[in-house]
Amino acid sequence: MKATNAALGSFGTTIFTVMSALAVEHGAINLGQGFPDEDGPEPVRRAAAEAILAGPNQYPPMPGLPILRQAVARHAQRFYDLAVDWQTEVLVTSGATEALADCFFGLIEPGDEVVLIEPLYDAYLPLVLRAGGVPRLVRMTPPEWALPVAALEAAFSPRTKLLVLNSPNNPSGKVFSADELSFIAELAQRWDAYVVCDEVYEHLVFEGLRHIPLMTLPGMRERCVRIASAGKAFSLTGWKVGMITAPPPLLSAIAKAHQFTTFTTVPALQIAVATGLGLDDGYFSGLARALEAKRDRLSRGLEAAGLPVLPAQGTYFLTVDVGATGFNGTDEAFCRTITQAAGVAAVPVSAFYADTPPTGFARFCFCKRDEVLDEASRRLGRYFGRA
Ligand code: PMP
Ligand code: GLN
Repeated sequence: MKATNAALGSFGTTIFTVMSALAVEHGAINLGQGFPDEDGPEPVRRAAAEAILAGPNQYPPMPGLPILRQAVARHAQRFYDLAVDWQTEVLVTSGATEALADCFFGLIEPGDEVVLIEPLYDAYLPLVLRAGGVPRLVRMTPPEWALPVAALEAAFSPRTKLLVLNSPNNPSGKVFSADELSFIAELAQRWDAYVVCDEVYEHLVFEGLRHIPLMTLPGMRERCVRIASAGKAFSLTGWKVGMITAPPPLLSAIAKAHQFTTFTTVPALQIAVATGLGLDDGYFSGLARALEAKRDRLSRGLEAAGLPVLPAQGTYFLTVDVGATGFNGTDEAFCRTITQAAGVAAVPVSAFYADTPPTGFARFCFCKRDEVLDEASRRLGRYFGRA
């Protein structure tokens, strides 16, 4: 048999699939893979259902339906005071994951260097490698998740094509500060690099913090690509509708990758997501408030069970300091053990690092019904002898 592609072949099954399967096998509460257990707004789902019946159901335009691209532009103006030309600067994709692939395949030339900040979402590294990029990894580590500014600066060179920035960050829950964003913007400009901004958790920011797209910083409008996900904004992760905003020269390069992969995205879902983006401000602030309350509920429950929790300012996730629980083993062993023995699944943070990861931290997802969070805490409390 001839060899299959080595860049992808060197990666195993994604941790989200592995832990979800283990959770099913053991009947565990799944706080591993990040998905809400309640579907998003009824008007958005109704719009999809009606559009399936009424049509259109044939190929929509390659860049996306005008109604959704216009809604993306209006949303950028409303939330970020960002002027976007819906015709030349917006592309609809089948999920943020496709958007990431389109960006890497459309922008990277083999041999280009790509700066990646660990912990990193699991799709980045395989896709960058498959695109022929040469990763330059810089790491943030728990418990502080501080941006290592000297290492980041040293990672840039004339060969740097782009940096990937994920804020709010999965799995850490870190929201990059205005100073950190300015530092990154300065480096990108100094080295004439693009920045692919994975902003799928843009509406899941807590404690009155504000999400700042890097694209809105001075000098960054022409070199940033912004990626959004309807799955996260509307608690409909299975829909896989992503939205890219980028200046025209970058967007047309990225659209080449899109047109030769998925070409387009389910029209009914595009219509429904346009409805969602038009929901009033109360919907979006209510989503953040509800998630913040769930973060606090699970934090209290885990702490009461003897699992110390690190601060998280956004996303669906919080991190537990496994070492401080007295568990004697890696984070992966911890996640497997609690799935099997306590009936609660989590995801090891080490899965978000390429090599020699920190091994003492686990990620718990809190976008679940209150009673599910409470039951997970009770089970962990019983297992760790606190209940
Ligand atoms: N980026 C990050 C940081 C994520 O956590 C996720 C998870 N869903 C994605 C991208 C992919 O989003 P989508 O489901 O829209 O492909
Ligand atoms: N983004 C989700 C997470 O971090 C999972 C997405 C997936 O399963 N591929 O849990």
